[in-house]
Amino acid sequence: FATLTEAWEWRVNEEPEAAALVYFDAVLSVRETDALADALAAVLSDRGVGHGDRVGIHLQNIPQYAIVLIALWKLGGVALLLNPMYRGRELTTLLGDAEPVGIITTDRDVEAVHDSAVGTPVRWVLGTAESDLQSRNDPRVFRPGTNDAAPSDNDLMTLIGERIGSRPPTVAVSGDDLAFLAYTSGTTGPPKGAMNSHANVLAVTTSFSRIAGISPGDVVFALAPLFHITGAVIIGSLALSEQTALVFTGRFQVETALDALREHSVTYTIGSITAFNAMMNSEHATADHFATIKALFSGGAPVPPSTVARFRERFGPYIHNAYGMTETSSGVIAVPPGTIAPVDETSGTLSIGVPLPGVEVQIVDTSGRPLPPGAQGELVLVGPQVIRGYWRNAEASEAAIPAGRLHTGDSAIADAEGWIYLVDRIKDQINVSGYKVWPREVEDVLYEHPAVLEAAVVGIPDEYRGESVAAYVSLKDGQTVEADELVAFARDRLAPYKRPRAVQIIAELPKTQSGKIRRRALRDKIAGQHGVVSATS
Ligand code: ATP
Ligand code: MG
Repeated sequence: FATLTEAWEWRVNEEPEAAALVYFDAVLSVRETDALADALAAVLSDRGVGHGDRVGIHLQNIPQYAIVLIALWKLGGVALLLNPMYRGRELTTLLGDAEPVGIITTDRDVEAVHDSAVGTPVRWVLGTAESDLQSRNDPRVFRPGTNDAAPSDNDLMTLIGERIGSRPPTVAVSGDDLAFLAYTSGTTGPPKGAMNSHANVLAVTTSFSRIAGISPGDVVFALAPLFHITGAVIIGSLALSEQTALVFTGRFQVETALDALREHSVTYTIGSITAFNAMMNSEHATADHFATIKALFSGGAPVPPSTVARFRERFGPYIHNAYGMTETSSGVIAVPPGTIAPVDETSGTLSIGVPLPGVEVQIVDTSGRPLPPGAQGELVLVGPQVIRGYWRNAEASEAAIPAGRLHTGDSAIADAEGWIYLVDRIKDQINVSGYKVWPREVEDVLYEHPAVLEAAVVGIPDEYRGESVAAYVSLKDGQTVEADELVAFARDRLAPYKRPRAVQIIAELPKTQSGKIRRRALRDKIAGQHGVVSATS
């Protein structure tokens, strides 16, 4: 297929009665999903959505998400991914840059979202009442037009209901057209709009399903949020274009998610390590919840080896590490099911896996020269998954993706067998008296402590050493431990210059929209609080 639209149309003809979308007790077939998408496409077309137009999607993981995607792709429109938690300034900044023609939201208060958009050229906002989605067994969510909670000119489901049976105009869509406009997580600077084309996305969905062994009849659970590229591509686009059912449970809630895995016999999912940590922290979780799982993937952030080991011991499944960026339209390196990722002896890092089919990986030195296996350098990626550039930002595109070669900003090692190890982000390296410390290695050690839920390590100014290592940790429910004990724990396991001089226990670590720990925010916070640290312990 050249486009996601073609892949979906093929499926509509091939298996109209197969289950496409599942939301608690409600199941929508491929045919029913397509009818709703046609009706929505007709509504959107009336509202002026045409080829190349962006439409903001400001929704939790609900079945309407998939319907909106299909409708947009039918029109050659572009799905602008928006975090549904965003309001006000967070939203206006992205909208001002992306200039969508409209927004689709679950926000009960559509007006508030509209107000955020004032001053940007957004023409309309369509809402779907949250009450539609709150009661588990309420099939109204799939019966457009029967929602009496919030009927209005702007009610998405009412509008769809009025147009059931209509066909949208036929629009020619090509592989180079954009399927998504997805902003980077903003971990290292302001988010940039990655232009993910249909060809980019299909390259990931086909190679990922091949490596993961996903086949017709599999059941995919929407664990990662669809507003992040991992959820949008490896969950949403993959499930729609391959012959699998897609299970939604709304906003992530650990017990609901666990029950959905069991109730719907889920076979595959991908999420952030934060979500898997939440499962381990839940007393509700049992091995039984994972009985039908063929593979679990964790993407987007470092995976501590101790977490993988403990998860497997307690529940059975092995968590497969997967690496991707918004700029690579999500996963491009992954640990294939049926294999166990090796751990690099020197750095202690768990391998992120092997390149997916079609992905070329290079490790280069600071002047861009390729390095031999075993050497550490910047990870550079080439392949059909890599975006052409950033939205309206030629300068950043040229800097990051010269001649189609994506400079990831990540430091990595490739071993002789082809396993890749991600050491850390180059920008996060800590320099202690000239010794280089990679925060992830220290974090991995802290994760070995049984009371630690999450850990983040940063460099802070130190008048003797230039920088010194500091750590922030949050604890598992019901656990207590003194900061000094954690300092001692790390001291026994690390070379002197790598040891955290200070550990601070806080309730929760700051995260980006995609669940990544924001080390930079912590570093700024420490610097602001303490000024220069001069501890000599
Ligand atoms: P920004 O580019 O705006 O600073 P970001 O890089 O966090 O934000 P994303 O595109 O969501 O935005 O994340 C890609 C980055 O996430 C990678 O460059 C890498 O640093 C990190 N990453 C992704 N997968 C993994 C993984 N499996 N292990 C370790 N790090 C990972
Ligand atoms: Mg990045």
